[in-house]
Amino acid sequence: MLIFEKSRPGRGCTELPPIDVPVIMPDEKNKRTLPMHMPEMSEGDLSRHYTELAKKSHGVNDGFYPLGSCTMKYNPKINDEMASLPGFAEIHPMQPSNTVQGCMEVMHLIEKYLCEITGMNHMSMQPAAGSHGEFAGLLLIKAYHESRGDYKRTKIIVPDSAHGTNPASAAMAGYSVVSVPSSEDGCVDIEKLRAAVGRDTAGLMLTNPNTLGLFDKNILEITDIIHECGGLCYYDGANLNAVMGIVRPGDMGFDVIHLNLHKTFSTPHGGGGPGSGPVGCKEHLAQFLPSVFVKREEEFFFEKPSHSIGELKDFYGNFLVVVRALTYILTLGNEGIPKAARSAVLNANYMMNRLGDLYTMAYDTTCMHEFVMSLSELKKNTGVSALDIAKGLLDNGIHPPTMYFPMIVGEALMVEPTETESKETLDHAIEVFRQLYKTAETDPERLHQAPAHTSVTRLDEVEAARHPVLRYNWEL
Ligand SMILES: *Cc1c(COP(=O)(O)O)cnc(C)c1O
Repeated sequence: MLIFEKSRPGRGCTELPPIDVPVIMPDEKNKRTLPMHMPEMSEGDLSRHYTELAKKSHGVNDGFYPLGSCTMKYNPKINDEMASLPGFAEIHPMQPSNTVQGCMEVMHLIEKYLCEITGMNHMSMQPAAGSHGEFAGLLLIKAYHESRGDYKRTKIIVPDSAHGTNPASAAMAGYSVVSVPSSEDGCVDIEKLRAAVGRDTAGLMLTNPNTLGLFDKNILEITDIIHECGGLCYYDGANLNAVMGIVRPGDMGFDVIHLNLHKTFSTPHGGGGPGSGPVGCKEHLAQFLPSVFVKREEEFFFEKPSHSIGELKDFYGNFLVVVRALTYILTLGNEGIPKAARSAVLNANYMMNRLGDLYTMAYDTTCMHEFVMSLSELKKNTGVSALDIAKGLLDNGIHPPTMYFPMIVGEALMVEPTETESKETLDHAIEVFRQLYKTAETDPERLHQAPAHTSVTRLDEVEAARHPVLRYNWEL
């Protein structure tokens, strides 16, 4: 039931203090003609309303959330505690910079740590999401070529195992996208890559580990091939959780990178935000970055480099996400960061191995932080699809893995357990996956109908996408 339907005229929970400024009424023409619809409710009912809503959603604090590519790891409470300190939470973006030096130091410090972790020389915290960081990185590549008078490079090479945002960002930046297929082992097909590059190649965008959960074994050769033809190499670092503190994109030959602070460095991000997708680069691209923080004579300044591509977001970016990420980095330290990566890889391989005798793995090899199963055969034999299994998981209190992605795998389920889950949680999830497989063989109809025990049951997803109800109908 919507809050508006629970509303009763005259009920409320506001006690406003008496007005201590002159009352100014708007002109007749600016006055609203329809009554304003605001729910009227007692504080107790209001509190229950939101608690009820919270119980209907599934978050990392409710249970296992193995949503591949999204790194839904537990966000330590200390991160939120730091982000709510008044000196961080209650500043205003228009404050003179000499009154927010501490906050600027936070930005300056995390830039330094992120450069150390990625092997880059500079970092800008402006972009508000991973895809936003990709867009920024591509503009850096474009600015670099144009600054050299090279306008012929119009193509960005994107392997077919890249995240879907990669080709989208390249197109947004005005490039045409050249897709390079993967070879049988799930890595970039080197011969096809060689055939695709040329004088018109502006660069390559590589998701590594890729969306199949595989680290490309030819990575050094790949960056060499691109550099030899005069292109630049972009590293989609949203999957850094698998490799942080162990290998560095900068050492693999990449010129530009973006990170997803809201994945790798915690911060809850279900439901679309908030995010932070810093863009990092090597020295030769630094002059093109959006705003950066610099330190001169013990004072921090927020400045645009000489040939900046311009600001991508108002003010400093999503500052409180950055505070959480810095807290996370400082808590883990340089021993904890690689340990988290190793545990993430171990957890994924443990699950993959315990499921491999029943479920078909898309690539039968050691994975990184996530693995992809293909349910094509199960569907052929039983009629039960990846979607049905995902819905069955919901009945067991488990958030489904990413479905039907990557698109190069049929009936794909992409599982990313993350490092923050215990062995008991993984064992339970494995048991549920195994039982669902058996249900598919014995009682497929039950899975076609699932979920049966959630607050909303099976939805018509096409109807929901084609005819969304976005406005409340007051006539009802
Ligand atoms: C999540 C993700 C992105 C996009 O990040 P957003 O913050 O959702 O825009 C890009 N690449 C990869 C590999 C990702 O997992």
